[in-house]
Amino acid sequence: MAATLQQAFDAAKHIVFLTGAGVSTPSGIPDYRSKNGLYTGHRNAEYYLSHTCLAQEPETFYDYVKQNLYYPQAQPNVIHTKQAALTQQGRATVITQNIDNLYRLAKTQHLIEFHGNLYRVYCQICGQEVAWQDYLQSPYHESDGGWLRPDVVLYEEGLNQVNVQRAVAAMQTADLVVIVGTSMRVYPFAGLLDYRAPQAQVVAINQESLNLGIDYQMIQTDATSFFETLIV
Ligand SMILES: [Zn+2]
Repeated sequence: MAATLQQAFDAAKHIVFLTGAGVSTPSGIPDYRSKNGLYTGHRNAEYYLSHTCLAQEPETFYDYVKQNLYYPQAQPNVIHTKQAALTQQGRATVITQNIDNLYRLAKTQHLIEFHGNLYRVYCQICGQEVAWQDYLQSPYHESDGGWLRPDVVLYEEGLNQVNVQRAVAAMQTADLVVIVGTSMRVYPFAGLLDYRAPQAQVVAINQESLNLGIDYQMIQTDATSFFETLIV
C-alpha cells in the first residue's frame, strides 16, 4: 500500500467501489466470463444465462445455474469486509456486478447489486419469494407449480431502474472511485464511469491492466493483498 493511496482513502468523503468477479474469486467463486471460468459443452455461459434459455428451456437453465453459479459455502474475504467497513462508516457505496450475496454476508451497508442476487428467488407466476434452499431442491413453486427463478438480470433483460438511478447518484457524488476485480468491459455497468464528478480520482486495482480511456491510476496487483494492507 503506497502512502499516497492510503491518504486518498483516508481523505475521501464518498468512495464508490465498482466491483466484479475478481472480488469473489479469492472466496472460491470462479468467473464464468474469464478464460478459466465456466464454459460447458458447445454453448457458452451467455446463452445459459439468457432470458431465451430461461423461457424456452427452463430445465436447461435450472441445471446450469444450479450446478455452476451457486456456492452456498462461500464466505466473504478481506476485500468484501474492508469495503463493508467503509460503508458502515458512511463513507462508501459498493456497486457490484456480482450476484453471489457475499457483500450482504459481509454486512455491506450501502450496496447496489447491479445485476441482482442469486440468493433471492421468486415464482414467475405469483411473484412470491422462496428460499434459495428450496430452489436448489426444486425449480417449481410448491403452492402453484410455477417456475421459480433467481432475481438476477439475465442477458436480454433490462436492469432494475431503481438500481441504475442509485448507482448514477452515487457516482455523481463520489470523490474517489475505486475499480476492483473487473475489467470494466460489460455495459451498461462500465458506462457508470461516465457519471463520475470531474474532480473525482479514479483508481483501478486489477491483475491485468485496463484500458478505460480516461485518466486513472492503475494498481496492477492482487486485490487481496491490496485490501489486506489498507487501513480502514
Ligand atoms: Zn407461485
